[in-house]
This record gives sequence, C-alpha cells and structure tokens, in this order.
Amino acid sequence: MSTVYESSPAIPSQDLLDRNAAYAEGHKPKLGQHNWGNFPKNAIITCMDCRLHPNKQLGLADHDTTIIRNAGGNVSELIGTIVVTQNFGTRHFMLIKHTDCGGFYNKREELVKNFKANAKNPDAIDELPSAGNGFGGLKKIEEVVNHDVEILRKSPLIYPDTVVSGWVFDDSTGKIRQVN
Ligand SMILES: [Zn+2]
Repeated sequence: MSTVYESSPAIPSQDLLDRNAAYAEGHKPKLGQHNWGNFPKNAIITCMDCRLHPNKQLGLADHDTTIIRNAGGNVSELIGTIVVTQNFGTRHFMLIKHTDCGGFYNKREELVKNFKANAKNPDAIDELPSAGNGFGGLKKIEEVVNHDVEILRKSPLIYPDTVVSGWVFDDSTGKIRQVN
C-alpha cells in the first residue's frame, strides 16, 4: 500500500490559502466552547508524527482536549507547556505514544553528523545535548509510556489531584489501548 508519509512535497502557500478559504466557508466561531473560563479539563500529550490524529482517532470534538505535541511525545521537553495547561484548569493528561515511532530510529550520532555537515554554526548542536537521544535505549513503546508517565506523576510541578494516564496507538490496527 502506498503512503504519503515522509514523501509529501512541500505544499505551496497559495494551495494552503485555497484550502483554508474552502474551510472558512463553513467555519463557526467557537468562543464560549473554548475560552479561558472553560478550558478543556483533558489534555493529550503525543508525538508530532503525522499518523496521529488524536481527536479523530478517539472520536473527540475539537474543544474536548488540548493537544500538546513534540518529537516522541517527550514530557520532559514539554513540561513548561504542561504546567501552563494545568494552570488553565487541565486535570487529566493522556500521554499517547505510538508504534513505529521515530524515537526508536532517532540516533544522536547521526543527528550530530548531519547537523555539523549542514549548519551555519556546526558546534551549536552542543547546546542541545538531549536532541537525538530518542528513547534512551528503551526497546518497547510500553516501556517508553511507563517511563514518561512516571516522570509526570513524580514531578513536583504536577498537582496531586491531576490524573496522568498512558496509552499506545497501534498504527497497524488503528486502535488505542491504555497501558498505564
Ligand atoms: Zn512518534
């Protein structure tokens, strides 16, 4: 089966504006559903991977959750955003990782090599010692979920009444299952 994953060319700006214009014709303002007095109580923390569409895959409306993403759904790098979300009223963080995640393939050595070959200042990468560390040697996605769930649960930055749960999205079946 062919896939557009990792092979789509850059989309021209005008094409994006045309697509947006078509969307805007049916757009309804959501003020009141999602404002600062009624911030979603649930937030999903997940990977930036384009195979993940948490709202669609969990049947959620746009205003049901906040979505917080980065490479691998790495909670340590997202902690500032997580704390801001908590301040607005979020009390449940669902951490969703996924099978075949780039975190298993991302190697520091390779990232540094590519960076040094292409960057304006090759040594600037030393300022980001954790970039490219992937999942730090963990082999199973469930282990990665458990690892990050524990970081959040033990973090002094997370309120004691906040629920943290851990999930895996399986790209081969489309199913999401709870692992923690
Ligand atoms: Zn991923």
